[in-house]
Amino acid sequence: MILYRLSCEKEHSFESWFRDSAAYDAQRAQELVTCPLCGSAEVEKALMAPALGRGTRKFAVEAPAESVTPESVDVAAEAPAPVALMSEKEQQLRALLRAVRDQVVAHSVDVGDEFATRARRMHEGEEERRAIRGEADPEEVRALIEDGIEVLPLPVLPDERN
Ligand SMILES: [Zn+2]
Repeated sequence: MILYRLSCEKEHSFESWFRDSAAYDAQRAQELVTCPLCGSAEVEKALMAPALGRGTRKFAVEAPAESVTPESVDVAAEAPAPVALMSEKEQQLRALLRAVRDQVVAHSVDVGDEFATRARRMHEGEEERRAIRGEADPEEVRALIEDGIEVLPLPVLPDERN
């Protein structure tokens, strides 16, 4: 399961979960990914906004598909349409976020502050590609994204926010 931050042609931004990047591509191609505000199917993945956070944040690279066992996130995996983050579904969402994060943690290696370096080495084929997680500051994350390296923020559970 991966969370994409998306924006439509009118620059509405929203987030949706997808089983994997291929599922996003397929749904996007069939115009099944639509903006919840205006219904437009002209959506694109949005870059994360580094200005939103200060200091280090936790990031992970997408786990290889074969290493992810979706049993614990079946609810979303079977949903044909993007899951809107509705407030009335908060309990469900919280459980989903927890499950997704547990999945990422269970199937990735914590490389701490070496995250940006290791992600780049894997991207350039100098290191075997696998799922890693760690910490990166906004500058490092922006540099990775600009170089076409896909990173995603680990879900933060609502009750862990300060
Ligand atoms: Zn829109």
